[in-house]
Amino acid sequence: MREISIAIVGAGFSGLGMAIQLQKRGIHSFTIFEAADEVGGTWRDNHYPGCACDVPSHLYSFSFEPKPDWTRKYGEQHEIFEYLKDVTDRHGLREHIRFETPVVAARYDEDEARWHLTTGDGETATADVLVTGTGPLSVPTIPAVEGLARFTGPTFHSARWDHDVDLAGKRVAVVGTGASAIQLVPRIAPEVARLHLFQRTPPWVLPKPDRAFHPLEKRLFAAAPPLHRAYRYLTYWAREWSAFGFVAAPGVLDYASRFARRHVEAQVDDPALRDLVTPDYRMGCKRVLISNDYYPALNRENVEVVPHGLSHVTERAVIASDGSEREVDAIVFATGFDVRAFLNGIEVRGRGGRTLDEAWADGAEAYYGLLVSGFPNLYTLLGPNTGLGHNSMVFMIEAQVRYVLQCLERMRREDLASLEVRADDQRAFDDSVQERLGHTVWSTGCQSWYLDENGRNFTLWPGFTFEYWLRTRRPDRRHFRAEPRRRSRAVAQSSRAVADGDRVGGAPRRV
Ligand code: NAP
Repeated sequence: MREISIAIVGAGFSGLGMAIQLQKRGIHSFTIFEAADEVGGTWRDNHYPGCACDVPSHLYSFSFEPKPDWTRKYGEQHEIFEYLKDVTDRHGLREHIRFETPVVAARYDEDEARWHLTTGDGETATADVLVTGTGPLSVPTIPAVEGLARFTGPTFHSARWDHDVDLAGKRVAVVGTGASAIQLVPRIAPEVARLHLFQRTPPWVLPKPDRAFHPLEKRLFAAAPPLHRAYRYLTYWAREWSAFGFVAAPGVLDYASRFARRHVEAQVDDPALRDLVTPDYRMGCKRVLISNDYYPALNRENVEVVPHGLSHVTERAVIASDGSEREVDAIVFATGFDVRAFLNGIEVRGRGGRTLDEAWADGAEAYYGLLVSGFPNLYTLLGPNTGLGHNSMVFMIEAQVRYVLQCLERMRREDLASLEVRADDQRAFDDSVQERLGHTVWSTGCQSWYLDENGRNFTLWPGFTFEYWLRTRRPDRRHFRAEPRRRSRAVAQSSRAVADGDRVGGAPRRV
């Protein structure tokens, strides 16, 4: 049977998960293109002090690569990063990865039914199928703050932490109070001279039920895989039920917000500060955060919550939007990511040379977040509307990988050149997603990175994750346009070249 060549972009959870499952099915004709010099994706790039996951470790890992000895209930960055490196080595994936090779452009050739990729150094490669695992949170955003270029001290983004800058004894401005900021502020607060925290919108913060695993628990999980699996299932369902509040009955979250208020009251000493950090929008509308040390850090004498955005910057000072000025030595931007850069700025051209940006001019949408009409044989892992506010993204990745595998299997079985979602089915899918999102807590009036500039939620899945899992169990043939392969010697030869991983003369390198 013909080998299908597959180009995977990104060696984070998505790309590695895809690669492992391909190998498990005996498919080895794939290459992973990775811009960096190591695997790990977001867990390689984010290494700011305190970086950890707010989804329990036993769930935030591959179901097919269990790790019984997670140190803590909520994994820290270095342990998750090590896990991904271990998984890569255990599966011998490094030989499939082209490190420091960013894909900058991908063009679908309709005659050949093949993707032509261009990498950062101008090399080209071709593949029958393109799978992107670029992650929705990989392009850091620093707001266009006037005067920033004039600032004389160091400035950096939380996702590009500069460990050469010693913040000890310095006056530091931290901009933003999202998931990253609330993890890093407690770590740097004890060492800096002053910390000015620019808070535009306070987050809802619940206690973090974190703890270290007892050595006995780790031994038990290792010795009894069924017990370990049961623990994972329990953890999954404990998180899954909370989706009810997000997607079905936002009123339920009002009860949870009482716990959050009690958390503020228990941890913040000063009533004025308590008011400043208590949100006035519905809980869940922005990502709900968990922390036990964020509020205590705000109590510190050397920490000031500035209840304003950052307006502009001078050589030595940061100016808040109320005009107040603070002299600082360094600025840390914990200002989030460009979620619109779904494919990390890769110029993707589908049928008729149309770019994905053009297709998404009115908002990003994809059938199950994975397939876009006009872009045959392209699968966008963690694409539009597959993000979550309540459960593990690794679960979504696994469901998507399973779906892609079935599409590949169908291509092989039926000897297809391409598979593509039908435009009307994509439209119907997106309409239903958008209709449902209108009833969720994310549409209750706050501003968040879940929404685009028109208020359209293009990031989150509107339901339970088990629903996504069930609905993606089998691709629905009726929703696809399938093109049979044209039999020609050239194609047959190139298929063999793909299988052997050969370079075909001076032609583009095949993966
Ligand atoms: P974020 O949630 O987008 O937060 C960005 C913060 O910057 C917000 O508080 C925002 O205020 C603020 N901001 C932006 N421009 C500003 C300005 N000019 N002046 C003042 N404040 C400004 O980014 P993030 O904290 O990096 O988190 C992004 C996502 O990454 C999270 O939602 C989560 O999905 C993921 N993450 C997960 C973990 C984890 O534990 N699993 C940890 C870190 C990140 P507004 O709220 O007013 O816009």
